[in-house]
Formats: sequence, structure tokens, C-alpha cells
Amino acid sequence: MVKIIIDDDKCNCCGLCVEVCPNEVLIKRRDGCSPLISDNECYLCENCMVVCETDALIVIEEDG
Ligand code: SF4
Ligand code: SF4
Repeated sequence: MVKIIIDDDKCNCCGLCVEVCPNEVLIKRRDGCSPLISDNECYLCENCMVVCETDALIVIEEDG
């Protein structure tokens, strides 16, 4: 199971993680800052983590 955690205090609303996600797991808010997380499958590619300049986002794989 994949867990995506976004620290709202660190997120600067750049939207880069949304742009680089290959499966639209991350969704840009119309009226807010940090992206929403959809039910789409996360491929664990880590594109979003790599591109996030403020280390606001982490993707982890959990057992079970
Ligand atoms: S790890 Fe890849 S697939 Fe998963 S949310 Fe980030 S960019 Fe999207
Ligand atoms: S890349 Fe990082 S700072 Fe930019 S919107 Fe995504 S979580 Fe926020």
C-alpha cells in the first residue's frame, strides 16, 4: 500500500508534483495550495518527491 504525505506548512503551491505525476494521482486545487490526492494508482516512481523543492511531499510503501 502506498501512502502519500504532503506537509501543508512546507508546500509552496508550485504544482510541479502534479505536472510530473504519470497517473494523475496528484490533483491541483482550484482554491487552495497543496495538491489533493486521488484514488488513482501510485506507481511509486518518486517523480513528485524528486521535483518538490521544499521536501513537502513524501511517498512511502507500507506493508499490508
Ligand atoms: S510517486 Fe509517481 S505515481 Fe506516485 S504520486 Fe508521485 S509522481 Fe505520481
Ligand atoms: S511540488 Fe512540493 S511544493 Fe510544489 S505543489 Fe507539490 S508538494 Fe507543494
